[in-house]
Amino acid sequence: MSLPLFTQSLHTATKPALPNACCMPRSQVKQMSSNKQYQERKMSEATDLDSDLFELAMSAKAQPLMDAVKKHIAENVEPIIEEFHALEEQKTDRWSWHPRQLELLEGAKNKAKESGLWNFFLPDSDTGEGLSNLDYAYIATELGKVPLASETLNCSAPDTGNMEVLERVGTPEQKEKWLKPLLNGEIRSAYAMTEPGLPSSDAKNISTQAVLDGDDWVINGEKFYISGAGDPRCKIMITMVRTSPDAAPSKQQSQILVPTDTPGVEILEGMQVFGQDHAPRGHMHIRFTDVRVPKENILLGEGRGFEISQVRLGPGRIHHCMRSIGKAEKALELMVKRAATRTAFGKPIAKLGKNLEVISRARIEINAMRLAVLQAAKAMDVLGNKEARVYVSAVKAMVPEKVCLIIDQAIQMHGAAGISQWTPLASMYADLRHLRFADGPDEVHHMVVGRSELQKYDLW
Ligand SMILES: Cc1cc2nc3c(=O)[nH]c(=O)nc-3n(C[C@H](O)[C@H](O)[C@H](O)COP(=O)(O)OP(=O)(O)OC[C@H]3O[C@@H](n4cnc5c(N)ncnc54)[C@H](O)[C@@H]3O)c2cc1C
Repeated sequence: MSLPLFTQSLHTATKPALPNACCMPRSQVKQMSSNKQYQERKMSEATDLDSDLFELAMSAKAQPLMDAVKKHIAENVEPIIEEFHALEEQKTDRWSWHPRQLELLEGAKNKAKESGLWNFFLPDSDTGEGLSNLDYAYIATELGKVPLASETLNCSAPDTGNMEVLERVGTPEQKEKWLKPLLNGEIRSAYAMTEPGLPSSDAKNISTQAVLDGDDWVINGEKFYISGAGDPRCKIMITMVRTSPDAAPSKQQSQILVPTDTPGVEILEGMQVFGQDHAPRGHMHIRFTDVRVPKENILLGEGRGFEISQVRLGPGRIHHCMRSIGKAEKALELMVKRAATRTAFGKPIAKLGKNLEVISRARIEINAMRLAVLQAAKAMDVLGNKEARVYVSAVKAMVPEKVCLIIDQAIQMHGAAGISQWTPLASMYADLRHLRFADGPDEVHHMVVGRSELQKYDLW
């Protein structure tokens, strides 16, 4: 009698022993993906309970850093938040920073840097900075709970993804000019892919045109919702363009570095998110008219835009999910404190109707999501970003949707105050809701996970 598939994999006693890939240099990890042993293991990993994909503890090296991050947030970030936001009202130009805002921010950044709490997001970098994805997942969860915390550690989107691209595929000149100031926290950056006129969830559609003219790329097109491009500190955009319309569909796009002050780069407006423009960082609608950049500004080479996306989008997506777990924790904390201390119909709100179950479900789902995110982070460490993409898509499909619901329930238990300026819940909800599109809509990630399930049975 044959065993069901799941049981079979648990009983595979003769499975070959494999080296611990998480301790290997990145080049060796990549090499493993063509290795037959590794391919065999990959097939069974989801059900293989002794796989190192289930070893999800924070390393001993990261534990003191985690404690130091919590201390930094309590001592250097939380005390500046109120003043930082109040200064918004005193600005004359929405699309600038108040000098005191920058002073507060730089002060907190300097303290973090001096304590070595800097650039944790970049695993296996040549510069030696960065933690494993797994260790960073624990820290990013803490960062997600408090606005500004990520930026004070130089761990904010979209810079983290952009820095990782420059670190992995940039030329020495590109690194010197753009990666160095980004790693130092001196400038900020944007990632410009989405276009208003076509469905950008399928990046093969991207049609902003780049044509080689002498020694320059000449770029024409329009992008929108380009986060951070309104920030006066944003100096560089990694821009997805179509350079090779006659090539195979996945080889038509390239990514090019476009300095924001290049003539022809025109910011048309800030796009809104539920009526908020998030100035001065913003999500900008940008027109490129005969924008000329040197041909050396191309990343990796012509037609290699999709290869770069594989480097960039894995980390970007999982960082969002890590921070979202922190936001879910914050929402649950607020929900519990409010519902337990406010009385209606003779009882604390927590004890009315099904509210206790709502609280219970939020805890259960946060715990489940946390484990899934940690495992996806571990998969990136062990398998490499490309091979871990199904794990990453799984959490990107699940986390924003579920965290949105938890925040919505916290709002509901607060009554009107839940959508007011008195709690962070409304802005947390907007943030999580936008994540259901940004870096790929839920449905596209479900497509990746669903397709992989069918492939297991040779049905795709
Ligand atoms: C606040 C915010 C910030 C953003 N920041 C950036 C940024 O910095 N840089 C950048 O380039 N972009 C950014 N974006 C844009 C975001 O990445 C895109 O909105 C996203 O990729 C989807 O593209 P689209 O809006 O063109 O939707 P479309 O591609 O038109 O898709 C619309 C809908 O179609 C459905 N759909 C699509 N594919 C499938 C499928 N395979 N199966 C089933 N249904 C499907 C989904 O419901 C999807 O939401 C941001 C967006 C927001 C809201």
